[in-house]
Amino acid sequence: MAVRVLVVEDERRLAAAVRRGLSAEGFAVDIAYDGEDGLHSAREGDYDAVVLDLMLPKISGYRVCQQLRAEKNWVPILILSAKDGEYDQADGLDLGADDYLTKPFSYVVLAARLRALLRRGAVPRPVELLAGDLSLDPASRRVRRGQTEIALTAREFSLLEYLIRRAGQVVSKSQLLEHVWDTYDSVGLNVVEVYAGYLRRKIDTPFGRQALQTVRGAGYRLAADGG
Ligand code: CA
Repeated sequence: MAVRVLVVEDERRLAAAVRRGLSAEGFAVDIAYDGEDGLHSAREGDYDAVVLDLMLPKISGYRVCQQLRAEKNWVPILILSAKDGEYDQADGLDLGADDYLTKPFSYVVLAARLRALLRRGAVPRPVELLAGDLSLDPASRRVRRGQTEIALTAREFSLLEYLIRRAGQVVSKSQLLEHVWDTYDSVGLNVVEVYAGYLRRKIDTPFGRQALQTVRGAGYRLAADGG
């Protein structure tokens, strides 16, 4: 029985070329032309693997991947990313993709990568980040302190994610402003303080902990042991 692959790609010529390339390698290929259709097909279609473009109409590939993993759908996903795309490969892998290829790519390489993924099969791969009993799951966007789930806003989540990836290290306010707020504007440094306060009230105060530490004159540090 042929291996079934779903290709989610909005550029029709590329999608058709991928279909030809993979069919020649013996795969049975279906195509979805936008993220919504791709997500639906990936849920319902019982595919052996998904080849997923990132920049897609309706729902981005990024969100499709995130959503499937949040639903504990572990179908192997290979991301196709444009060279200077909005997202980098690390983002895709954080969201639970299994591999990525940068466009332009050769179909022989794509087929080989897919075979490698298929050999591994659909393995659960939660990518949880931990600092002591504080955990953050980038794929499902869940944060927990022990068994207690904590609801964060998108900005608070990004701030915590940046800090927990660097747990134990001092991170400056301007670094946070640049990476979490996407701006270098130093006038806005106080916004970092405000959000650090919001975050503390959610991840520390209710638990009598002090994970998010102010390092005077330098910035912040998230205690590696969770405070
Ligand atoms: Ca695209």
